[in-house]
Amino acid sequence: MPEKIFTIPINEAFDMYEGCPLCRLKDRLEEQMLGFSLGEAMMEPGVREEMNELGFCPRHFEGLYSMKNKLTLGLILESHLDKARACFETEASGGKRPLFGRDKREAEDAADAMGRHAMSCYICSRISRTEARYYSNVIYLWESDPGFREKLKKQPFFCVTHFSGLLCQAKSCMRREGYLELYAAMAGINGAYFKRLREAVTGFCVSFDHRNSGKPLTEDERKSIERAIAALK
Ligand SMILES: [Zn+2]
Ligand SMILES: [Zn+2]
Repeated sequence: MPEKIFTIPINEAFDMYEGCPLCRLKDRLEEQMLGFSLGEAMMEPGVREEMNELGFCPRHFEGLYSMKNKLTLGLILESHLDKARACFETEASGGKRPLFGRDKREAEDAADAMGRHAMSCYICSRISRTEARYYSNVIYLWESDPGFREKLKKQPFFCVTHFSGLLCQAKSCMRREGYLELYAAMAGINGAYFKRLREAVTGFCVSFDHRNSGKPLTEDERKSIERAIAALK
């Protein structure tokens, strides 16, 4: 049973009919997570530990840095630097393995641990967990609420990340007929949107031809590059 609490923000995002509705939810969540990381998270030792363990990706470090609370960010960085320093003291492992037997060369050293750390992010991980719950709620609404079904069919498009995220989850939990219907709706929306987008990008590109100099771009052509990036992310 999905957590119904998410159905309200989902309906709000789907009521906007502007951009990818799941990007709207994700952007809002990201804002909240940045605030949380520099706020309540500091009061929760378990969360601080998880933040320390996973660190932050460059995008979310930038986000944290753009916020007002520089002291909290400083305290977070102190812990991260301590953790990294401790890690650098780990004895080297690996190198060319001996022919026989296993030895401590196979254990993890700072190269492995830092590599893992560089690939993980506390905020990204929280977002992807919550997104999975958004997906199950969207599927629940699609299956149980005819009004929502119509709403989904009128969305302008789904970015490729959310198109695939939602449908992969739907494929794993819906009955085949239900999945086919949702798939047809979303693929239909995206097929039409991407066709228009492709035409607009072509209009943008041919405007560089000297034979078209002086010919004004349409609104769609002018915004086509930005829109194509938003759809393909
Ligand atoms: Zn999206
Ligand atoms: Zn991140």
